[in-house]
Amino acid sequence: MPTVQLSKVSVIYGSVVAVDEVDLRIEDGEYVTILGPSGCGKTTLIRAIAGILVPTRGEVFIGEKNMKGVPIEERDIGYVFQNIALFPNMTVTNNVGYGPRVHEKSKEAQVEIAHKYLELVKLLEKMEMFPSELCGGEQQKVSLARALATGAKLLLLDEPLSALDARVRVDLRYELRRLVKRLGLTTVHVTHDQEEAMSVSDRIVVMRAGGIVETGTPAQLYTRPLDIFTANFVGETNLFEGWVTHREEGKSAIELRDGSIIDVATCECAEGDAVVVSVRPEFVFPFTEGMRTRITQTIYMGNYWRIVGMAASEDTVEFDVPVAEGNLYHEGQEVYLMVNRKAAVVYQRPREGIAEAVKLE
Ligand code: ATP
Repeated sequence: MPTVQLSKVSVIYGSVVAVDEVDLRIEDGEYVTILGPSGCGKTTLIRAIAGILVPTRGEVFIGEKNMKGVPIEERDIGYVFQNIALFPNMTVTNNVGYGPRVHEKSKEAQVEIAHKYLELVKLLEKMEMFPSELCGGEQQKVSLARALATGAKLLLLDEPLSALDARVRVDLRYELRRLVKRLGLTTVHVTHDQEEAMSVSDRIVVMRAGGIVETGTPAQLYTRPLDIFTANFVGETNLFEGWVTHREEGKSAIELRDGSIIDVATCECAEGDAVVVSVRPEFVFPFTEGMRTRITQTIYMGNYWRIVGMAASEDTVEFDVPVAEGNLYHEGQEVYLMVNRKAAVVYQRPREGIAEAVKLE
């Protein structure tokens, strides 16, 4: 299976730097997702890998071979687009058999390969239908089968699930990962949906404004993101402004603006530093003491209650309580909150301010 390597890749459109000196290596058989807000350069980056566009600067290697001057059809890639681009006048079988046909396989081989991949995506019974007779999820499965049937070992997926409704999107995520892992493909998947990225990837690359913020496994990015932007973008989090008042191995203290203290297990900052503490809502809990908070909203989420409040420190706080305890909380009520200190992540306070540091631009 091929590796993919990007070396100082930049793509510039006039005055817009869509991709800015990106270095990235994707290993054999790895499932990597490029995640970032709208306009951050994800699509541009995957197009540079595919050869749909030529980088302004830098180099793309697939399987250690420099792709300079190599057109898309010679890169041996399967590509699935956001807008399901099936041939409307061809049956499902002929759509999927298109790659083998281009590779000049015999008619029998085209059909045999098409049926093999249709079976993999569980659509064999629709093989004689036309795309317009299928629902969106089925059409996207046909696109995937078509990309796989080319025999490519590198699969590029550009927002492959975005056009589908929520339920189908979730089902297809699992299907996608199962398939590419079974076939052992190297996969690059672009999405702006952090849940989708978390559920399919071996590794996530977080992008912002043309550059890579950080890369890590879904668990690393969720539990210990290196950058405050990631903490806010991947999953939900509370951000508390404070100062380090005590620093010791395994136990440090952060004082908030109202004088209340958050204990944290890990703190890379020095005493006196202005910091931001990130804590996910599931790691904030009501207690007999802690951050004094007035509840402003209670939201029923089906399997838990999300409680929103304003702390005396003037930080907004969100925390989750089990369904059975939802009736214990109501708007206007004052509660005290503690955080799980092992789950708290401390960042130097960004010079540009928190809002700017986490802004989705
Ligand atoms: P989205 O999720 O909204 O598709 P994205 O992260 O995929 O966003 P890109 O489509 O790669 O972002 O665009 C990155 C930047 O480059 C944006 O500012 C966009 O306006 C700009 N851009 C993209 N394609 C072109 C083009 N052909 N000409 C000029 N600017 C472009």
